[in-house]
Amino acid sequence: MKIRKSYVLKFLAISCAVLLLIVAVLSLMASDNVLTKAARNSDMITINAKYDSEAKTLTAMQTVRYKNRSNDALPHIKFHIYANAYREGAKFPPVTSSDEEKAFPNGKSYGGIHINEVRLPLAQVGVPVLIEGDDKNVLSVPLFQPLRPNQSIDIFLEYTVQLANIAHRLGWTDDVVNLGNFYPVPVIYEGGQWQAYPYSFNGDPFYNALHNFDVTLQCDLMIASSGTLVREGRYKASAIRDFAMVLSKSFKSLTRVVSGVAVNYFYLTDERPTESLQCAVDSLKTFSKLFTKYPYKQLTVVQTDFLHGGMEYGELVYVSNGLERDLHNQVIIHEIAHQWWYGIIGNNQARSAWIDEGLAEYSTLLFYDHNPQYSRFNRAEMIDNARSNFATYAKVVQAVGGTIDTMNRDLNSFRSTHEYVYMTYVRGMLLFCDLEMLLGQDLVAGALRAFASEAQFSFATQDKLITSMEKSTRVSLRTFFESFLTGVNTLT
Ligand SMILES: [Zn+2]
Repeated sequence: MKIRKSYVLKFLAISCAVLLLIVAVLSLMASDNVLTKAARNSDMITINAKYDSEAKTLTAMQTVRYKNRSNDALPHIKFHIYANAYREGAKFPPVTSSDEEKAFPNGKSYGGIHINEVRLPLAQVGVPVLIEGDDKNVLSVPLFQPLRPNQSIDIFLEYTVQLANIAHRLGWTDDVVNLGNFYPVPVIYEGGQWQAYPYSFNGDPFYNALHNFDVTLQCDLMIASSGTLVREGRYKASAIRDFAMVLSKSFKSLTRVVSGVAVNYFYLTDERPTESLQCAVDSLKTFSKLFTKYPYKQLTVVQTDFLHGGMEYGELVYVSNGLERDLHNQVIIHEIAHQWWYGIIGNNQARSAWIDEGLAEYSTLLFYDHNPQYSRFNRAEMIDNARSNFATYAKVVQAVGGTIDTMNRDLNSFRSTHEYVYMTYVRGMLLFCDLEMLLGQDLVAGALRAFASEAQFSFATQDKLITSMEKSTRVSLRTFFESFLTGVNTLT
């Protein structure tokens, strides 16, 4: 039988198109599958809340389904109550005294959380409300009988959050209401202990498991939220670490759908909002390509009043209002990088901030490398700047008789914000830049991609990161990492 050549070519072209379509559908299904699996392994938090714009209070009813994933029987379940860091008399307040003027637009203001009731299934009356921790930062719920491994329990909480007048993760200003970390969230139980940490003005004092969220908020303001809008005021999210909302009567917004992800930009004052949205879209595309596909359907960037540059939450990032353009973009890029480093690939930010901050800074460098239109500096100049800044910092530390201490430590053990930033952001980024000098850019890129896909929806630890990178690169890297982390390598 003889087949005409044009027929063969046409057949081949159609076959290729079908094959490409199948590959695209399969890769979409694969990313849906990893999220579905992560959601199945995550507990549910349901919140019904109402915001009172006059009193600046949030009253909420919350149900937490808690599954005991440890091997121990648990006589009580513990919750972080981050909102209590904003109360008067907090030992570990969210701002340093030198930042108070900037943080409090109308003078010092306090907030806090009041737990009205805690109830357990089948109980006619509530259980006692026990507030514990180094700084009243933990709610302990005693159970009638210990929760055995693999058993689940529904815990019902009713509480009121009083917001402080503060430009922080949680608080209100004249233009916005920031609702970050407002709700009680189960403390991770690990190694026979509840991993609770007090708040810190340094860094992000969070170490949280993935949860599924179903949050309904009644309020008379516009809402920018984590998750997907299912009806007015109600949002659902699967397998994210921290749920947040920002409210304002002045929001304008733009949305662009990219590869099935709705990228939203809520802004207050931005003369070039489409450029900001484009920066978010480019960040999403770049990091999806470099690390692992962004698994969620939404990504929201929200411009708000915030003391620091920005803050990362699940599917949502804060960007501080009033930043000049280059810094504004840099914050968008850095915070979106956190969707991977801390979000999809979790870590203990209270203990090992260098992992997520170092990788977010290094990812920002990679972003500029792949999108040079966003930077006035090239890669080599950026690395040189970071290196010389760190060298200056190290000289100042040595001049006053100090030492370059370990990078891997509790947030509250950093003596100043300066020390925290240099030891986690700058030194963290330089660690990966030096690794490139040792192994080459391609090998480091491949190793990070392999690590991201291996550790997605779980936790990165120092040990897991080093072991994974050694396996990918087939190079012994432990001494290299440890010289950085312990401070032996001073980079000067
Ligand atoms: Zn960061």
